[in-house]
Amino acid sequence: MKVLVTGGAGYIGSVATDALLQRGHDVVVFDNLQQGHREAVPLEARFVQGDLNCFKAIDQVVRCETPDAVMHFSANSLVGESMEKPFLYLNDNVVNALNLLKSMENHGVKRIIFSSTANLFSDPSEMPIDETERIVPGSPYGESKAIIERFLHWLSVTSGFRYACLRYFNAAGATERLGEDHNPELHLIPIILQVALGQRKEVKIFGNDYDTPDGTCIRDYIHVEDLIDAHILALGALESGNRVYNLGNGKGFSVKEVVESARRVTGHRIPCEIAKRRPGDPAVLVAGSDKIRNELGWSPRYADIDSIVESAWKWHKDNPNGYEGEKRQVR
Ligand code: UDP
Repeated sequence: MKVLVTGGAGYIGSVATDALLQRGHDVVVFDNLQQGHREAVPLEARFVQGDLNCFKAIDQVVRCETPDAVMHFSANSLVGESMEKPFLYLNDNVVNALNLLKSMENHGVKRIIFSSTANLFSDPSEMPIDETERIVPGSPYGESKAIIERFLHWLSVTSGFRYACLRYFNAAGATERLGEDHNPELHLIPIILQVALGQRKEVKIFGNDYDTPDGTCIRDYIHVEDLIDAHILALGALESGNRVYNLGNGKGFSVKEVVESARRVTGHRIPCEIAKRRPGDPAVLVAGSDKIRNELGWSPRYADIDSIVESAWKWHKDNPNGYEGEKRQVR
């Protein structure tokens, strides 16, 4: 199969690119390198630097490559930032996605795997959260994903699109070659590991007055390789219908528990300081993923938090400055 991967130079997209290549697929990566890293794209993938905000640019790639399917990872994905910059999020995540979808429709490309989010569920009636839960976006970021999820439904009705919406809970961990490197870094596990490496003084814990056993937010951390396994399974299952899945381990860990895990794994003290809550953060988000387990036989390999943190720690130790200055590596 030929797969177009938007955002294939980013954290999750690069792992997808690698996994698709390893399974013998042909991959074209489209990325503006604003947040992604050229070094993260395997040499076997064709790489096009371009921005989805330019309809002509993406339309030309879709026309020339006519992929069998698209995996759409390109997006801004920070809940807190979206509360400060709602227009940026609606523009980059909605308008740009519409450019991609329009170009797909133009050229008869009708299969898409869409990266969605747990931020669709800011007011869950039950925990863990399964796919029957009411969608109440928690931020402009969540809203931008909800809009595209709905639009994919309509494209399937009006134009015969086949889609999978995969709602990520907290993607974490690393493969041997690919890891998490954002600038600035705002995600919990890489920040904790930067403290372990001596690159930061302490971890700021955003709020210890939530309604949880230790007062800190609980999240469901899912290893990036397990997440991508789900994408590959969903891609193979599109033939038999549209797919919507929540993706997580089904187990939550508080911010303090993640810090404890990193202390065990790294052997470092990792000082913490309590800071104020981050806007848009719900207290608890844990995924109910029985649907994809039952329908597609998905089964995450990294079931405990220590193994996830350990894989990230190995990558951060091997790449203390992320991709910066790294020589191109061939797998
Ligand atoms: N968090 C924190 N300090 C940080 C970064 C994150 O306490 O420096 C908390 C954050 O409030 C959330 C959890 O860690 O409850 C995971 O945050 P992250 O940004 O990694 O992922 P998100 O839940 O936003 O997708």
